[in-house]
Amino acid sequence: MSRIIGLIGGMSWESTATYYREINEMVRDRHGGLVSADILMRSVNFDEIVALQKAGDWTGAEARLAEAGRGLAGAGAGCLLICTNTMHLVAPGVARAAGVPLIHIVDVVGRELAAVGVRKPLLLATRYTMEQNFWKDRLKQRFALDVMIPEEQDRAIVHDVIFDELCRGIVKETSRESYIDIIGKAQKDGADAVIFGCTEIGLLIGEGDTELPVFDSTKLHARAAVDFYDGRLDIDAVAA
Ligand code: GLU
Repeated sequence: MSRIIGLIGGMSWESTATYYREINEMVRDRHGGLVSADILMRSVNFDEIVALQKAGDWTGAEARLAEAGRGLAGAGAGCLLICTNTMHLVAPGVARAAGVPLIHIVDVVGRELAAVGVRKPLLLATRYTMEQNFWKDRLKQRFALDVMIPEEQDRAIVHDVIFDELCRGIVKETSRESYIDIIGKAQKDGADAVIFGCTEIGLLIGEGDTELPVFDSTKLHARAAVDFYDGRLDIDAVAA
């Protein structure tokens, strides 16, 4: 079976660059020397995907990503990663179309949360991920976790910072402070961990910014890809 990692990226390319770096750094750290990851990537035009998201045209978005996934599988990828949380809304359809295992970001994060006994994590993500059910329900059903999301006004801040700043490579101190503030409120309300449920959030804040344990979906997803590459991922436990 092929061990080539297939990445559906570009959503945004800022965070796909993080995947590329994380995966290769982990492979280097595990194997040393000049070993690097065998990767196939399809990087889409994010502007087209955002237009479909805004129109609520998830069927159209699924068709785009399914076509990308089929292409990667046809070129020899042994697994697929959709390098964004939001577009996991269409992950089952993309997996069916591609016919190779799709490593689901929610399962990867959920397994980690459950392993360390988190019960009430705060989810920071795009509006789609925070407000629709595909992320929270999967975490509830598969890992019995009750996800908290910020209040309406704060959700707007988190979402806008992602699209207006982070996806454009803009990192502002004021936004960092807003995020830290929002995490602080959740901590007071009983959150016992923070999920960076958007692949760009790690560009803005990190573990040192909060007392709560941080679960960065980008890093965990990238690590699962490396586990697949090394033949040590329990793929059935995390496949869409
Ligand atoms: N990368 C972000 C995420 O993880 C947002 C971009 C998108 O809407 O796909 O959800």
